[in-house]
Amino acid sequence: MRITSVTPHLLFHALEQPFESSFSTFRARHHCLVEITCDNGLTGWGECLGPADINAAVLRSMSDMLIGRDPLQIDRIWLEIYNQFRDQGQRGLIHTALSGIDIALWDIAGKNFGVPIYQLMGGAWRTEIPAYATGGFRPEGGDHATSASAEMAACVAEGFDAVKIKIGYGIASDLAAIRAVREAIGPDTELMIDANHGYDMADAIEIGRRAAEYDIGWFEEPVVPEALSAYQQIRARQPIPVAAGETWHGRWAVNEALKQGAVDILQPDVCGVGGLSEARRILTLADVHDVRVVPHVWGTAVALAAGLQFHAILPQSPPAHEARSPRLEFDRTYNPFRQDIVTRPIEHENGIVAVPDGPGLGIEINRQALAAFAPS
Ligand code: CA
Repeated sequence: MRITSVTPHLLFHALEQPFESSFSTFRARHHCLVEITCDNGLTGWGECLGPADINAAVLRSMSDMLIGRDPLQIDRIWLEIYNQFRDQGQRGLIHTALSGIDIALWDIAGKNFGVPIYQLMGGAWRTEIPAYATGGFRPEGGDHATSASAEMAACVAEGFDAVKIKIGYGIASDLAAIRAVREAIGPDTELMIDANHGYDMADAIEIGRRAAEYDIGWFEEPVVPEALSAYQQIRARQPIPVAAGETWHGRWAVNEALKQGAVDILQPDVCGVGGLSEARRILTLADVHDVRVVPHVWGTAVALAAGLQFHAILPQSPPAHEARSPRLEFDRTYNPFRQDIVTRPIEHENGIVAVPDGPGLGIEINRQALAAFAPS
């Protein structure tokens, strides 16, 4: 089996209601998939986290290293591409593009052997994943507390028993939103907060101290991800467990954060960290440092499917009867790519998402939908 083509696919959808994280305004959903085809007709799909156009450009520049290769040499291909690009690529778009390639190669391998990817990676610990609902962004021009509390109450009504809202819009506004959401979801629903690094250390410590009374499961990306010593301080000086990791790409970046004790909870994204291969290597680091892994997931059905394969192989930790299952991050913001680009959408049932059990990623791409969402 030999690789014959590597094709980036861009997806674009303008949003009727733009929404804001602490630092960016989402006016459209824009994602980059990669399709790798082989001479025997097998096709694999992957997805790259981050700016779609630049990911596509990097994918094109990597494709020469893939054409004619045996797609089952996944580790070797990964390292050869990384070696070629590492001088400018220890973090960021080299890793996100390589992630898409790696996921597509695993999809091909699974289809080649007729098993889900998790089977090739040592077998599943679980095939049903309890999800948490991600949302609660601030609508552009809207009131955050009002919209987030209504949105999260609706998620709980759908069956979710854990939710995460965005913060980072100012301390008073954030505390009002957290209070309103806690009241709306009741005391038994887990609540997490994500600042998308919208605070500095002093404000992050203050908000952590003041938000703790609302029983917060974790405080995600309080400050910019480069500031590892600030993460240490925030962990030490406020009571909420600290989570981060969606922008720590590759084993070396993750290892540095873990060595410095930056987080209680590590959030690698298989579409950014270096694919399923690198995500699995990072599990070893998390194990050695005794840090909980709750993966980050953001994107289309391809990212969701790849994330689910990774959740399946997360080892039970700690080794206890009542060890908690890792939770799937299930984005509830409007995104037609999450469902429409696959023939069988991945959905939750009462807050639980089943890992697709078909070969590879276990999804089939709807090419008509891909064409419909191609940017004009
Ligand atoms: Ca986040």
